[in-house]
Amino acid sequence: MKKKLTIATFYTKNQVCFDSIRERSYSQSPLKPYLLMQKIERSEHNTHFDIHADFKPFQQEDFLLAHSPEYVSNFFNQTGNYRSNGIPWSENLATSVRYTNSAMYHAVKHSLEHPDQLCFAPVSGMHHATPHAGQGFCTFSGQVIASLKLYEEHGVSGAWLDLDGHFGNSIEDSRGFDPRINKAIPWDCNVNPIGYNETYIQDFKLKLERVKQRILAGKVHYVVFAHGADSHIDDDLGGQCDTEHWLSCASIFGEWVNEVSLQLGKPLPVTLALFGGYRKDDYNIVLDLHLSSIERCRTLLCAPNNAVAA
Ligand SMILES: [Zn+2]
Repeated sequence: MKKKLTIATFYTKNQVCFDSIRERSYSQSPLKPYLLMQKIERSEHNTHFDIHADFKPFQQEDFLLAHSPEYVSNFFNQTGNYRSNGIPWSENLATSVRYTNSAMYHAVKHSLEHPDQLCFAPVSGMHHATPHAGQGFCTFSGQVIASLKLYEEHGVSGAWLDLDGHFGNSIEDSRGFDPRINKAIPWDCNVNPIGYNETYIQDFKLKLERVKQRILAGKVHYVVFAHGADSHIDDDLGGQCDTEHWLSCASIFGEWVNEVSLQLGKPLPVTLALFGGYRKDDYNIVLDLHLSSIERCRTLLCAPNNAVAA
């Protein structure tokens, strides 16, 4: 039930905002896909990532699935509440969000079409966005858009395992905007563990058990693991888990996927995403946490080099 060796990674530099981020933005997340992929390229893990760069950006109508026409128009035309995401606006930012949201969707779609391959969307800046405004460094709800599209296209539902340090309000805030979300992401499938260290892990396990029952009942068909680095205790904005507990969440997730796949009798479609992570003192620590989590998942979920041809 192991997956292929390589991770299908939906990445192009178009999903990166380089303008005004280092100098003027509190959140470095718009740059994070580039910084992380650059780190990966220069590392021994380079060969584990199979880059898919040929996906198309979202158009304005794609964003209307999760947002009001007024907000979408405001954001792209620099009117009204276009700064509600808290990130300096630029043409580059506007282009990059078309790609980050599309990368998220294409990664999950690939996981459904190729459940024997682990998928990865190096993206952040989604889980606080509301139907009528951006919020907390998030512009559009890539989660809601991806899940609604896949529900419409394939009739599938998903679970979002959101281990960012902050509650992912975007899905809950959108339930009234489009009731189909209640089918696309069932009420107990926006998983945000609470607590600290051991209690955080216990809560995560409890919530995973509920998702597992949904999957075995045929009600949920894919999962996305967004291991935000701001749930690490030393993060500027977070702090639920020390390094050992933070990393063990990735192991718990990987082992859980293997167990669920075994019980299902087929590989569970899995996608990884980044979400938050803020360190003014050393941003490299944020990148290291993300990469360590991805590698833990890969080690647990993917076959060793000599077992399966990539
Ligand atoms: Zn966060």
